[in-house]
Amino acid sequence: SPPAEKYEYQAEVSRLMDLIVNSLYSNKEVFLRELISNASDALDKLRFLSVTDPEILKGAEMDLDIRIQTDKDNGIVTITDTGIGMTRQELVDCLGTIAQSGTAKFLKALKDSKDSGSDSNLIGQFGVGFYSAFLVADRVVVSTKSPKSDKQYVWEGKANSSSYSIREETDPEKLIPRGTHLTLYLKNDDKGFAHPERIQRLVKNYSQFVSFPIYTWQEKGYTKEVEVDEDLAEAKKDGEDEKAEKQKKTKKVIEKYWDWELTNETQPIWLRSPKEVSTEEYNEFYKKTFNEYLDPLASSHFTTEGEVEFRSILYVPAVTPMGKDDMLNPKTKNIRLYVKRVFISDDFDGELFPRYLSFIKGVVDSNDLPLNVSREILQESRIVRIMRKRLVRKAFDMILGISLSENREDYEKFWDNYGKFLKLGCIEDRDNHKRIAPLLRFFSSQSEEDLISLDEYVENMKSEQKDIYYIAADNVASAKNTPFLEKLLEKDLEVLFLVDPIDEVAIQNLKSYKEKNFVDISKEDLDLGDKDEEKEKVMKQEFGQTCDWIKKRLGEKVASVQISNRLSSSPCVLVSGRFGWSANMERLMKSQTM
Ligand code: ADP
Ligand code: MG
Repeated sequence: SPPAEKYEYQAEVSRLMDLIVNSLYSNKEVFLRELISNASDALDKLRFLSVTDPEILKGAEMDLDIRIQTDKDNGIVTITDTGIGMTRQELVDCLGTIAQSGTAKFLKALKDSKDSGSDSNLIGQFGVGFYSAFLVADRVVVSTKSPKSDKQYVWEGKANSSSYSIREETDPEKLIPRGTHLTLYLKNDDKGFAHPERIQRLVKNYSQFVSFPIYTWQEKGYTKEVEVDEDLAEAKKDGEDEKAEKQKKTKKVIEKYWDWELTNETQPIWLRSPKEVSTEEYNEFYKKTFNEYLDPLASSHFTTEGEVEFRSILYVPAVTPMGKDDMLNPKTKNIRLYVKRVFISDDFDGELFPRYLSFIKGVVDSNDLPLNVSREILQESRIVRIMRKRLVRKAFDMILGISLSENREDYEKFWDNYGKFLKLGCIEDRDNHKRIAPLLRFFSSQSEEDLISLDEYVENMKSEQKDIYYIAADNVASAKNTPFLEKLLEKDLEVLFLVDPIDEVAIQNLKSYKEKNFVDISKEDLDLGDKDEEKEKVMKQEFGQTCDWIKKRLGEKVASVQISNRLSSSPCVLVSGRFGWSANMERLMKSQTM
């Protein structure tokens, strides 16, 4: 057979290899994600080509799949795919030089980082593709057969070497019809990756939704009944033949064998058409993916095309696991980000959703992001900005859907769990006020038991009424008893009761709803449109001196003492200045709950 030819790595690859081999990077398991994603890419390429050129499959009509086998005694992991494979030249181009963008970016970042101590973190941030095999292996053998070539080639590289070799495969035992067979000889410290259960767990974690089947080689067992002879022999010795026949014993033993086991779901549910997926399936997927036991309150499955292409399924969980204190600093893992169906991370919630929507769970699968996407990349990406906008809009559509449900209880449940989050949204997301406001709910002077929406309030407004009135208080009872209400109740004007500490700030941020301003009825300039100037003049003359006298007595304790027409039975009331804090806000600031 022809001898192996030796090649030197491109200088950059050499450096990269050096770094990987000597790095202290702790998250080594990413190697499997990278290699599976290469196998999946190779299958994708083959599938794509075979559409236009069915000839390519001729002579190698094999299933498109990925198989991972482990030999834990020898510390060997093999990954086999039936994808596009590589020609000799492609082996040189792909595995001997830096061609791919992710690794190139890694090297650039490396050049830019003067602090060489952070090198190993960069591996995680940018991904090092195929070379990540050397995170765990000190020898890697790639045996590959492309449909473009009638020969199979073997690439071999070692961890501490600046060269690699390529030879032709001549051992008939090792010939494959098509695809790539990767063998990793694990480093001593990393032999644990050759445990079948560990590989299975990693595959489930990282590649559960790769669209090609991934099989792992697993030990199985079935129970078999075997006869136990000794008892029989002993009974016979005692001369009790008949009894012995009855005593014939059987024993259960487990027969072990090895077989391929399908380890991933091949068709990610989000790739299917929403028309074909039932609510039960969405719920099942949700519960399985997020370890939930309750069905979600709502789900939304959508695809966006055009400028940015991604698919997503979003969910509103039935209950929030977060305590009230966690609300502002959610440490959730609610959004699972996939790139081309390969799981990337569930740690990017903050980049894909504003924090006030951090209760939303779901999956997002993008074809436009790089596989080695990092938080840094996400933060700067224009694509992500567009995705974020769409995701937020879809989340609101989904919530609106709950609020329009015939079953009023659904939205009550939602509001009970997440009302606070939406109020936070009023404060933090001006751009979405129009979407948040219709979802808010309050008690009011005319609805002390049932929460009402702002739409319901507006519908109930008097024809001459211009503003939306509210009063902030600790609870409904004290809101009801405030003297500020008297005049409004008399005129049959509805007043919103803001009884949650965050309500008032939220409303002040909204400023208006459907062009109607929110007006605090405890502020001094309340105008109910019933000013009688003549009468006011008379009153002022009559009681002016009384006011001066009271002001003198109270001194600095009040800003001013004025005649007002806003009470009907109480003689006087303490009000907040127009630009001052309301009494409720004062309370809040004092207790520092904000
Ligand atoms: P990337 O996947 O981002 O291109 P990698 O370093 O992971 O970078 O892989 C480099 C190249 O090697 C791939 O682009 C591909 O051309 C080739 N390659 C790697 N693994 C396989 C495989 N299993 N089958 C076919 N080609 C492969
Ligand atoms: Mg890759």
